Amino acid sequence: MLATLGAAVAAIAGWALGSKLLGRRKQESDMQQASASQTRSPRALQGVYPPGPEHWVGDGFYVKTVFWPQLDAQMLSPFLLLDHAAKRQFDPSPHRRGVGEHPHRGFETVTFAYRGEIEHRDSAGGGGRIGPGDVQWMTAASGVVHEEKHSQAFSERGGEFEMVQLWVNLPASKKMSAPRYQPLLDREFPRVALGPGEARVIAGTLGAETGPAKTHTPMTTFDVHFHESGTAEVELPDGWTTLVFPLEGDVGAGPERTAIPSRHFGVFDRNDDGPIQLHANAGTRALVLAGEPLDEPVFAYGPFVMNTREEVAQAFRDYQSGRMGHL
Ligand code: MN
Repeated sequence: MLATLGAAVAAIAGWALGSKLLGRRKQESDMQQASASQTRSPRALQGVYPPGPEHWVGDGFYVKTVFWPQLDAQMLSPFLLLDHAAKRQFDPSPHRRGVGEHPHRGFETVTFAYRGEIEHRDSAGGGGRIGPGDVQWMTAASGVVHEEKHSQAFSERGGEFEMVQLWVNLPASKKMSAPRYQPLLDREFPRVALGPGEARVIAGTLGAETGPAKTHTPMTTFDVHFHESGTAEVELPDGWTTLVFPLEGDVGAGPERTAIPSRHFGVFDRNDDGPIQLHANAGTRALVLAGEPLDEPVFAYGPFVMNTREEVAQAFRDYQSGRMGHL
């Protein structure tokens, strides 16, 4: 989301880590081992990280930035940033709250609406309104200018609002490709029973189901709602980055059932295999993000995420000269 270029400039970061991916295995090995999962040790948790402080993005989104590229771009790859606006009551207002026109280049913004309604409009012609359970997957790629607001109808009637915005990186080969907008409705997401929980598959494959989102690199994204207390177990490719974000309630993970408190996030060990196990009480909701790491340098500066400083400087010039368009 990242409201303004001013904030953007304050949020400078440059990374060029050349970390090697150890022990990457083929996805097939997970499939073959799936039947033996009962006897395998659950995948180890590498770490649990607290979110940043709560802050306003524009006047519509009171978020905690749960992770951001400056934290450890290689550990998070292909994911970059996650903002969570927890459930919050908004009074009726004739004014449409949100974030005005601003640019992006080099990645995707994925917005999950949980409560309330969000309207998006971009310079590539993408746009629409999403409501509870819906997701919009906006590929900025070569560059768009967009605005993100509460819908007019939601602003006027007021009510509870909750959303997540995830930034997904693009590989160098796709950063200058054409922008794309995918509105994805709650009813399109296949449901997968995970013991005491139910998952909604947004992107990639989980069990026998595949989510509707088109992605530029291999990934699986789903959320899970625990209707009862217990353990949900899923198979995801080892060698991938796997992150768990509990939106509400705490999740235990790994062989020691390490606690991932609500609104913190857990990172599974990329070099370990075994099933992902999530232990939670009834009512817990969590987002699970798994993806093949890009293994490329990340230069993130405000609303632009490229591979090098010069590419970000070029993005500023292109935005300022109007090459990313206007609303
Ligand atoms: Mn934005």
